[in-house]
Amino acid sequence: MWQNPVAPFHTEVIMALTGLQIYKLLPKTNCKECGFPTCMAFAMKLAAKQAELSACPYVSEEAKIQLEEASAPPIRLITLSSDGYKVEAGNETVLFRHEKTFYHKPGLFVRVRDTQSPEEIEQRVQQVREYAVDYVGLSLTLDGLAVEAASGNPAIYAAAVKRALGTGRPLILLAPEPGVAEAG
Ligand code: SF4
Repeated sequence: MWQNPVAPFHTEVIMALTGLQIYKLLPKTNCKECGFPTCMAFAMKLAAKQAELSACPYVSEEAKIQLEEASAPPIRLITLSSDGYKVEAGNETVLFRHEKTFYHKPGLFVRVRDTQSPEEIEQRVQQVREYAVDYVGLSLTLDGLAVEAASGNPAIYAAAVKRALGTGRPLILLAPEPGVAEAG
């Protein structure tokens, strides 16, 4: 279970390099082995994420480290897990799916509020556990519950979270007050 929902995601934002900045790190011999006529042409393609650095066999180790750091995904991988069930988010290199592949499918979580009755929460737990749709050979399921601390009361919230654990799936704790979040 992800246990610190109110803390901001730890992100490390590294600015993408421009074609010219990348060019300065390349050998500048224009040998064409990468499949491009010049190092500059290759640099421009790298900046546009339309080429892979590994296509140039002559990049120095030092430059490789700098270029790999600059092309690292801007948002670190976030993993929510429970009982061997795992949902991952982040670690994408692009913001929009049409630019390139997204590697992690969005997690699907159902929200419950701690002000709902125990029976209602139990019902949601069961629905999340049992929901499955066959889609072209894939079994699509729900990934877990997001439990909102609508009451603002630590004891009520803790009880609701305890019930939500019944899904066996990851939980997202939505609690703006640190004391309430901690109880959850
Ligand atoms: S293989 Fe490397 S050195 Fe040769 S042209 Fe391409 S980028 Fe330049």
